[in-house]
Amino acid sequence: MTRKEFIRTGSAAATAAGFSGCLTATAGAGKLALLGGTPVIGKAEAAQHGKVFAWPIVNEAMRKASDAVLAGRKMSGIDITKEFEQKFAAWNGTKYALACLNGTTALNTAFYAIGLKPGDEVICPSITMWASCSGVVNIGGTVVFCDVNPDDLTIDPKSFEAHITPRTKAVVVVHYMGAPCDMDPIMAIAKKHNLKVVEDVSHAQGGLYKGRKLGSIGDVGAMSLMSGKSFAIGEAGMIVTNSKEIYEKSIRWGMYIRIPATFGRDGIKRTKDVPFGGIKNRLNQCTSAVGLEQLKKYDAERAEIEEAMLYYHKGIADVKGLKMIYPKWEKSNKAGWYSSRCLYDPAAFGGVLNTVFALALNAETGGGYSAGCNFPLHWSSVYDDEDIFGDGKPPVRRGLPAGVTPKSLTGSLPVSDDINNRVIGDPWFKRFDKAVIDRYIEAVHKVAANVAQLKDYKGKAKFAYWS
Ligand SMILES: *Cc1c(COP(=O)(O)O)cnc(C)c1O
Repeated sequence: MTRKEFIRTGSAAATAAGFSGCLTATAGAGKLALLGGTPVIGKAEAAQHGKVFAWPIVNEAMRKASDAVLAGRKMSGIDITKEFEQKFAAWNGTKYALACLNGTTALNTAFYAIGLKPGDEVICPSITMWASCSGVVNIGGTVVFCDVNPDDLTIDPKSFEAHITPRTKAVVVVHYMGAPCDMDPIMAIAKKHNLKVVEDVSHAQGGLYKGRKLGSIGDVGAMSLMSGKSFAIGEAGMIVTNSKEIYEKSIRWGMYIRIPATFGRDGIKRTKDVPFGGIKNRLNQCTSAVGLEQLKKYDAERAEIEEAMLYYHKGIADVKGLKMIYPKWEKSNKAGWYSSRCLYDPAAFGGVLNTVFALALNAETGGGYSAGCNFPLHWSSVYDDEDIFGDGKPPVRRGLPAGVTPKSLTGSLPVSDDINNRVIGDPWFKRFDKAVIDRYIEAVHKVAANVAQLKDYKGKAKFAYWS
């Protein structure tokens, strides 16, 4: 069905697509709100949608649990945190879990715990948040970036393999914006080259890849649990692993108070309880108590988000040029749909940029859309030639042979270079409210049907995450 026909037969199409919104009148009404037309969702209506988007969901049990820690003056202990870790490990299908200050310190610690040394190389997809790999730089290693798949934005296994050198020690894979990485080929390549696999689960806590929990497939999983993420409890992070060695080394790096119990008094005679990493990585117990409550409700929240997001995408499935990102394997999902993106094909919209398209959607709805995803990290000098300590020697080049640079190892990454032009952020529905979601579906159809109006748009339109 062409878009023109869609406008004429809007109600019939709406029924066929499985939603009950009344599109015809608004979609046909034409003038886009970005250009002064009447928005699909006016200000008063948008204000009513707060509950559908509100995040994180904080319940009475969380408040009580946090209050109890305060009342007991136990903010800095470890007993509640240990209980949270045990329950988290069981839920995540791993033997061990270790709660950290945040996702960044969890990842930093994981890089030490897998045995990374100064001069080692770690391969990381260029499209992710910097915390996925900056811990490598802290240790004195080099990050070599590889490309991502254009259809799901996760690490491209072929590009990963192509970036392996004799100095490569590990790969960090990111289950990006809810979508699980294709772990089977990744694990096979890692095994073949004797590499460690770190899973960054910050965007997909509790997600499944072929029936297995994310974070339990590689050598170690590390993740953020900060309040913008899907498993949202505040500034917090978690390491999960089945390896006793990785678990204990993680304690050695930043959990000084747990060192004697882990290694025994004899093992620490010379060092006393001084952590190797020189950091104190302990999670505060108010957050651990909140985490215990979040564990009880997270799977239900996740299920409702899944229902809502799939309903939204079913409603816009007929819009050529927008494509849902979703795992293609059995027993796999997009847990929590954190910061979910869909693919945007500018050619299907007469060359209109995704930045302008997203702006038009926000004008129709009052917000919820964004253009692009993450800034490609291989464009940042921090990983190539930044003189971090001011001594004229970029630390990330320390282990490399003469004439070799991190940039030359990374080479060209065509998908990462261009991907920000090809994705649009989905509105993140936390509640399955059909009537509300139908309104966003309607807005997408209106903008798509009238996209020709945007061809000469000259206003400012920016990418998300870019300053
Ligand atoms: C948020 C995030 C982190 C860092 O977690 P913090 O809790 O913010 O320190 C790491 N990796 C990815 C992919 C993230 O999105």
